[in-house]
Amino acid sequence: MLHMTAFILVIVGAVNWGLLGLLNFNLVNVILSSVPGVEQIVYILVGVSGVYLAATHMNDCKVCSAKA
Ligand SMILES: [Zn+2]
Repeated sequence: MLHMTAFILVIVGAVNWGLLGLLNFNLVNVILSSVPGVEQIVYILVGVSGVYLAATHMNDCKVCSAKA
């Protein structure tokens, strides 16, 4: 469950960053800026999820663990 949550957050962060680079459009900001504090929490959770996946992905992923 934590694995999936972290995965989804990393995807959200990556897509948001892509939109920001391509269109200068920050989806997370547009959706959450009306709620004080939540936008920053999402960014922090995305960062924590990235670190979590970087540390655990090799063990969880069939492709990566097969090559290791
Ligand atoms: Zn992998």
